[in-house]
Amino acid sequence: MADRAYMYCPFCRNQGSPKVELHRDNVDMFCLMGHKGPHGQILAMNPEMIKTTVRFQPGPNDVKAEVWVNGERLLKAKEALGDRFHPTIASLISCCMAGEPVIIDGQQAAELRKLGIRNGQEMLAAAKENVQLAGQNQSLTDEVIKWETRIAGAMANIN
Ligand SMILES: [Zn+2]
Repeated sequence: MADRAYMYCPFCRNQGSPKVELHRDNVDMFCLMGHKGPHGQILAMNPEMIKTTVRFQPGPNDVKAEVWVNGERLLKAKEALGDRFHPTIASLISCCMAGEPVIIDGQQAAELRKLGIRNGQEMLAAAKENVQLAGQNQSLTDEVIKWETRIAGAMANIN
């Protein structure tokens, strides 16, 4: 029995057909064009994942809410977020209820990602590490000043 692998065939991709779907059984992955290989071999070729679109369904306790928002921005947001529009807005509202949220925009998020920081937990870890390093830096500076003072004192005694 074959299941969908939710990936596109990398052999087909390399031959110029990037949208041929892979199927899998317990041993192999294969496509309708006759390509076949063990899971590990196919995965090593970095097959492109098929993104499954999850249709938004309101939960049993959800209500439809009205908010005042700039019309142009609303259109752009719906266009940009697509199926993720409702869950994104709903999770933003939830976020605001968990203490005081720190909101960062997409550009800041992109810069964080370049630094290897992908979520709030990693942001917090980086900030804590920064505080710790600043503390270490201060005690090293204090130590250097202490030694400079001692040396200056010793030099004054020599002269
Ligand atoms: Zn193929």
